[in-house]
Amino acid sequence: MSLIVLDLEWNQSSTGREPEAASLPFEIIEIGAVRLGDGCRMIGEFSELIKPQVYTKMHTYTSKLIHLQMKQLEKGSPFQEVMERFFQWCSREDLICTWGSSDVTELQRNLLFFGLEPIGRGPVPYLDVQKLFSLAYEEDRKIRRNLEYAVDFLKIEKDIPFHRAFSDAYYTAAVLKALVEKDASLLDYISYDVTFPPTGREEEIHARFRNYEKYITRVFPTKEALLSDREVKALPCFVCGKNLRLTIRWFSTNDRHYYAAGVCEKHGYMKGKIRVRHLEGDSVFAVKTTKLTDPTEMRDIEKKHNKTAMLRMRRRQGGSQEDQKS
Ligand SMILES: [Zn+2]
Repeated sequence: MSLIVLDLEWNQSSTGREPEAASLPFEIIEIGAVRLGDGCRMIGEFSELIKPQVYTKMHTYTSKLIHLQMKQLEKGSPFQEVMERFFQWCSREDLICTWGSSDVTELQRNLLFFGLEPIGRGPVPYLDVQKLFSLAYEEDRKIRRNLEYAVDFLKIEKDIPFHRAFSDAYYTAAVLKALVEKDASLLDYISYDVTFPPTGREEEIHARFRNYEKYITRVFPTKEALLSDREVKALPCFVCGKNLRLTIRWFSTNDRHYYAAGVCEKHGYMKGKIRVRHLEGDSVFAVKTTKLTDPTEMRDIEKKHNKTAMLRMRRRQGGSQEDQKS
């Protein structure tokens, strides 16, 4: 298995009225990639323009951002041919690395749209280098910087222009190399694309990191079935596996995000979050994270809980007053 640093450029509909707009919001028009060997040394490259088949007019935003004209793209090959060459150049088992989380999703969507085999029919592991940069250098790990910021920050030489697929893959690879040299354990922070969520228990993801654990559940027929599942509801300490003493039971602020918090005698404060993801029809799956936390954050969660409970109560009281009036 190699690391393949990938960057895609895409175009979108100018009118939003095409029948394809729902299943293919973005059509890939360029792919650039770099293969990394030992020590994240660049040992191979791939770069191709793709001739559009759906959106044959360049969206103003796309042409402004990436300076590509339709005339140039027409010299490219159709997506199907480019992908055949791409998967000869690398293998579907290689680990994809990208800047941000959208490239893998759009690649999966385009592969499906054009009738090709997706990278995987379950959660696809990849490395989000933008996230790794935040883990390494941002105090607030939720902050997401753009690629040029990271390149400047790490004093990487800017010898080719940005915003073309190959150059962005090249710079992403250079950032990744610098990050790994600083802390090789960053490579453990695998992300998952869930274009195809787990269909059964055996495909579920349990990923443990230094200070948190992530659980991607299988698909459930309804949200009620998901939320009443024992494993989904449980909040064990992710270090020792013992059930936490819950100080705040699961509550929801908007029926999509659920929170809970508790204490492990040995390992301290932990918070749980369930993000419910809706699929076609009623079916759902969820991403649950359990994270180490501290007393300050515990108080914040408690405040959020109390505020939600109060709003609920007010709504209920408001409702009953309405009832009395009618
Ligand atoms: Zn514990």
